[in-house]
Amino acid sequence: MVKKVLKFGGTSVGTIDRIRHVANIIKKEQLQGNKVIAIVSAMAGKTNELISLSNEISNEFNKREFDVLLSTGEQVTCALLSGALIKLNIKAKSFLNWQIPILTDGEHTNARIVNINVENINEYLGNNGVAIIPGFQGISKNLDITTIGRGGSDATAVAVAKIFNADTCEIYTDVDGVYSTDPNKIPVAKKIDKISYDEMLELSSLGAKVMQSSAVQTAMMYNIPLEVKSTFTERKGTKIFSQENIDYSKSVTGVAYSKDDAKITITGVKDRPGVAANIFEPLSKGQINVDMVIQNISSDLKTTDITFTVKRNDVLKTKKILKDYSKIEYKEIIHNEKVAKVSIVGAGMVSTPGVTYKMFRALSDEGINILAISTSEIKLSVIIEESNTLKAIKKLHTVFDLD
Ligand code: ASP
Ligand code: MG
Repeated sequence: MVKKVLKFGGTSVGTIDRIRHVANIIKKEQLQGNKVIAIVSAMAGKTNELISLSNEISNEFNKREFDVLLSTGEQVTCALLSGALIKLNIKAKSFLNWQIPILTDGEHTNARIVNINVENINEYLGNNGVAIIPGFQGISKNLDITTIGRGGSDATAVAVAKIFNADTCEIYTDVDGVYSTDPNKIPVAKKIDKISYDEMLELSSLGAKVMQSSAVQTAMMYNIPLEVKSTFTERKGTKIFSQENIDYSKSVTGVAYSKDDAKITITGVKDRPGVAANIFEPLSKGQINVDMVIQNISSDLKTTDITFTVKRNDVLKTKKILKDYSKIEYKEIIHNEKVAKVSIVGAGMVSTPGVTYKMFRALSDEGINILAISTSEIKLSVIIEESNTLKAIKKLHTVFDLD
């Protein structure tokens, strides 16, 4: 007998028909003798709808009440799914955050799960019941209802898998796994069967949004194997686990892209010790996250250009901070928001020489200019003109044998 945590995202429970379908998936598991804990999201669009309602009252809606409001989305799904299972003659019951309880720490709207009482649910599972738990919420030690951040049902699933010592944690969603690149843009993209936590984190933070990154991080920390699979097909999903268990035949696992970045160049900066510090210190105080940095060689040995990237929605704030606070002399601050970040990710890179060169050559063959570069152990990212994005990912996908 296997203890399974099954998490169903918003689109998987988006209509009554889909909830019935999910009930059938659970029924099958239960009839195979598995113990099932299901974690559910709010029905697709519900959480946004609730947020809009609160905005109609006030843009500064009270945070405690905001959490009470938002937590209802998942509670609706819990009741409907339990009801659907009962209709199929399966013993099922919803366990709400305060009934379990799921204890959280930290602020409203951004709390963190610290403990879950396993007793009642384990007893219920032992009596052949299916437990349905709302994702995304808990209660504080003052017994206030809390939520744990958007997309937080993934985090609930991972925490439940850990604390209940589950054998598997399966994330059911509307795609059938993690792909080597965006399958909507590149039809030859392939589903990845196995991927390491690190690669998954790089891919999701770079734009392949399949699972909440912080949930993957928690899974990595406690070594909880995950599987992402589709609610709507029977196909095998993607298994996410630790690197030691993966055999790397390819240097690159996936090609990701994002259009969240902008490039800022400060020209005519006096080239002397301390300038970089004087630029980036006020930015860090202003909570601006700087990603890539390039300093050009100064041709006259007196002035230089410094280029870096920030999140697109931080551009105006960044320019203002530089103008108001940095103690540097410069000629001009220029920005370009029409850029994309394209990255290749692969744990196999560590042991394969020449990956960097191969990427740059591939881009140059396509006549694509590289505007900035950053690297980590398992990732190589470049900034290019946004209009070249598709051409770049197509080429890299081919060159690294992913088609
Ligand atoms: N319903 C919440 C959200 O939309 C949590 C989740 O679905 O994971 O953010
Ligand atoms: Mg989600």
